[in-house]
Amino acid sequence: MSNDALVTRLREELGTAAVLTDADVTDSYARDMMPLAPVGKPLAVVLPVDVEGVQATVRACAEAGVPIVPRGAGSGLSGAANAIDGCVVLVLTKLDQIVEIDAGNRLAVVQPGVVNLDFRNAVEKHGLFYPPDPSSYDWCTIGGNLSTNAGGLCCVKYGVTTDSVLGLEVVLADGSLLKTGRRTVKGVAGYDLARLFVGSEGTLGVITQATVALKPLPQAPSTLVAGFSSTEAAGEAVARVVREGLVPSLLEIMDATSIKAAETYLKTDLGAGSDCQALLLAQSDSGGEVARRELAALEQICVDCGASLAYATDDIAEGNMLLQARRVVLTALEMYGVWLTDDVCVPRTRIAELIAGCQRVSEKVDLRIAVVGHAGDGNMHPTIVYSPDSEDEFARAQQAFDEILEIGLSLGGTVTGEHGIGKIKREWLAKEIGPVGLKVHRQIKQALDPGNLFNPGSMFSL
Ligand SMILES: Cc1cc2nc3c(=O)[nH]c(=O)nc-3n(C[C@H](O)[C@H](O)[C@H](O)COP(=O)(O)OP(=O)(O)OC[C@H]3O[C@@H](n4cnc5c(N)ncnc54)[C@H](O)[C@@H]3O)c2cc1C
Repeated sequence: MSNDALVTRLREELGTAAVLTDADVTDSYARDMMPLAPVGKPLAVVLPVDVEGVQATVRACAEAGVPIVPRGAGSGLSGAANAIDGCVVLVLTKLDQIVEIDAGNRLAVVQPGVVNLDFRNAVEKHGLFYPPDPSSYDWCTIGGNLSTNAGGLCCVKYGVTTDSVLGLEVVLADGSLLKTGRRTVKGVAGYDLARLFVGSEGTLGVITQATVALKPLPQAPSTLVAGFSSTEAAGEAVARVVREGLVPSLLEIMDATSIKAAETYLKTDLGAGSDCQALLLAQSDSGGEVARRELAALEQICVDCGASLAYATDDIAEGNMLLQARRVVLTALEMYGVWLTDDVCVPRTRIAELIAGCQRVSEKVDLRIAVVGHAGDGNMHPTIVYSPDSEDEFARAQQAFDEILEIGLSLGGTVTGEHGIGKIKREWLAKEIGPVGLKVHRQIKQALDPGNLFNPGSMFSL
């Protein structure tokens, strides 16, 4: 089937409005938020409104031998949703229904195009809570979250996306619809196929529906901020929180560069003092006396580890203000240039070593690197700032990006805690999982997608 014939067939089956080929329009669907990743020119962008439309697209593309790159909101930070030349970008944002909220069984059935925040707000009306909360939650989609196994700020207590998944519906490479998983709390029938698709970055199939477990709505959070004159002291506090079995609902870290950027941007003083090298922000969502006890225990650990500032509040507005300092860091860094954010996860006892390593890299490449991270998970986002007008700075930013990954691996960590491999960390995946791991990945890909239809070249090549 020629490309023209494929476009004609897609228009016949899905309707003209669902198939876009104007290059000005298709280009706007061609890339995500990662500046390092390669981008191709799509043949077409297809926006089905239902599962049948997805199946029709997959069947037609399989017949034509045209690759498919599934796409949610394009907020990814690995190039995983980036087009390759001549592909169909399959955008799932119009499958945007919350099919069911079953409060009695504390679960919901949701289509992939629903925006994370809209879903969270909808279940909240039933007194329920959907934990996965990537910082991009006001525009990223549930489908993208599932396909990247997204994390976020509250993972330290509630886990990542996969921990909420009960079942999935997935359109496979032959257009058939796999319904896998369960609606029950337990269930061990067969391989856990749902979790195989979670985090598979659109390389194995197209997720068209998910059944997810919900939690009771937590209490309004109480917040603690603690400032340290060394990152080692802050790192020791995190390690002690883990060792002593405390489970805050959020535990974030900001290094000196991030603190300064946030303070300048917000025109505020976080009260940490001029010698502050690291801030920890912690929350408890247990409510009332339990939250007070949890925060007191966290505060004591911080003080024991030498915190020069330790301040707890159960005032929600004040807590939000403190958390805003963490949330604005990326935006604040735009005062100095454009940013390139890395994503490494290290054992929680080694956070300070990672931050020290980033400082060394920053000096070496002569670029600003700010480290913020989900300290409770060891998932750090060293963010490199460079001038958009300087090729030389871009090259040095790339060098820093790679050197940080090397440091992460050398500390016993992983090259991605939540953003994924995509089109920028393929060699790093190979390095991390080794030849046997890579062979198993390829075997799974070949079993499920023998024509290499879905997102070819992303994650690894065959
Ligand atoms: C400012 C900012 C902050 C961020 N913070 C976080 C964070 O805290 N935690 C975190 O984990 N991530 C974070 N991210 C990264 C990003 O938002 C997440 O990876 C998110 O899950 C991507 O969702 P999306 O809808 O934008 O997916 P896209 O970027 O469109 O796609 C991501 C991947 O999913 C695949 N895909 C999408 N939908 C489907 C589907 N229905 N079926 C099969 N494959 C599909 C795509 O092919 C691609 O491989 C952040 C990004 C930004 C820009």
